[in-house]
Amino acid sequence: MEKEEIEGYTIAEAIAEARRCLNCPKPLCRTGCPIENDIPAFNHAVSLGNIGDAYNIISQRSNLPAICGRVCPHETQCEGHCVLAKAGKGIKIGKIERFIADFEAEAKFAKEAKIEKTEGKVAVIGSGPAGLTVAGDLARKGYEVVVYEGEGEPGGVLLYGIPEFRLPKDVVRRTTKKIEELGVKFITNTMVGTDITVNQLFENGFDAVFIGTGTALAKGLDIPGKDLTGVIQSNYLLRMVRLYQDGEVTKDEVPIKEGDDVIVIGAGNVAMDACRTAVRMKAKSVTVAYRKTIEFMRAAKAEYDGALKDGVEFKWEHAPLEFVGADGVVTGLKCKTPDGEVVLPATKVLLAIGSRPAARILSTTEGIEADEGGFVITKQRPYGMTTHRGIFAGGDVVHKPATVVLAMREAKKVAVGISEFLEAKKLLGE
Ligand SMILES: Cc1cc2nc3c(=O)[nH]c(=O)nc-3n(C[C@H](O)[C@H](O)[C@H](O)COP(=O)(O)OP(=O)(O)OC[C@H]3O[C@@H](n4cnc5c(N)ncnc54)[C@H](O)[C@@H]3O)c2cc1C
Repeated sequence: MEKEEIEGYTIAEAIAEARRCLNCPKPLCRTGCPIENDIPAFNHAVSLGNIGDAYNIISQRSNLPAICGRVCPHETQCEGHCVLAKAGKGIKIGKIERFIADFEAEAKFAKEAKIEKTEGKVAVIGSGPAGLTVAGDLARKGYEVVVYEGEGEPGGVLLYGIPEFRLPKDVVRRTTKKIEELGVKFITNTMVGTDITVNQLFENGFDAVFIGTGTALAKGLDIPGKDLTGVIQSNYLLRMVRLYQDGEVTKDEVPIKEGDDVIVIGAGNVAMDACRTAVRMKAKSVTVAYRKTIEFMRAAKAEYDGALKDGVEFKWEHAPLEFVGADGVVTGLKCKTPDGEVVLPATKVLLAIGSRPAARILSTTEGIEADEGGFVITKQRPYGMTTHRGIFAGGDVVHKPATVVLAMREAKKVAVGISEFLEAKKLLGE
């Protein structure tokens, strides 16, 4: 199995780092965290060597600390807001968070009391960060939760998108297991809208349904040559590499081969993971082509730095005009640049230009409205309810592809919305 790129802290390192925390009266780190983790409190606990308390503090706000500790854009969130960051000495909060979660995973000291499930029954569709968060929060409130997942294993993008070198599968697996231990049931290999409909879920006794299905449809680029062999979606590459690492497909089925000249179009997180994965698949050259300047790059700085370190070349202000090919196979990408047109040679071109939701659920359930991009429309009260009573939605399927922690933040609010809705129903005797 591929080694994780960034090493975690030892206990001595974690304590030393946590001791640098100034415990500010107005903790800006906490304001910078979308789920308002009590960072000074867990830093204080770690500084005293009390990892159990630190874990309990994190768990009050997050079901996914081992994941957030690894993949959150800390430099713009908690760490970026730390007062010490101004002097370039911000506390490495992500690494402390990761240490706490990893330490617990090894020592296994946290044991949550099982709560009786008497409040009602909720179906959660999708087991990415949004679905996992809703499931965990509602199970803790005493709801019986069943998660329906189309893939063979829960985790969503955490498992099939973000590569092993940044987020090991074991970390995702132990996180979903913890949620299972709260009494949440996972039903995998079940695509809602195909294998079972939302209406059938209600017929089966669920009181509410949460849609956290993310954005499964990768956008294509409608320019000449788009159907040439070798023009591939980045998400497909990342998924196939995961399956290859799991021994479920052979190396032949991974679309990047040793010696390939690869161009990646786009400059978000997916583009960074795709280009860095292509390097690891031993491509001869890997170039990222982006139509705008570096200031518009959406990828986290740490990911960009990682790609540079891997030897990836970046071509800014290269707007794709045409996939060039011979005998039906791609041989390059023609781009418009400030200096005129150029053709970048390539044996594979990977697309990473965004994604949108699939229509599987909306096309089989009446009354759920979406905007023109297919993103589900939700209400403020009860928070997260769609235009169909009792059906809620959150995460990327609502707010467009964003980050793990933003999906979690929304999902936490929707979990409150669902319980308020079900409470109100009970009060009205419905
Ligand atoms: C390659 C890549 C790298 C990324 N890197 C980062 C990063 O470093 N940091 C960061 O913060 N964010 C990152 N992101 C973004 C982040 O992963 C997403 O914002 C987040 O996963 C969204 O969570 P979600 O729960 O809404 O959806 P998802 O994680 O997409 O989960 C949706 C789940 O629903 C399932 N599903 C879909 N339809 C159905 C159906 N009809 N029935 C049953 N199940 C269904 C899917 O199989 C999937 O498991 C990355 C995204 C990608 C693609």
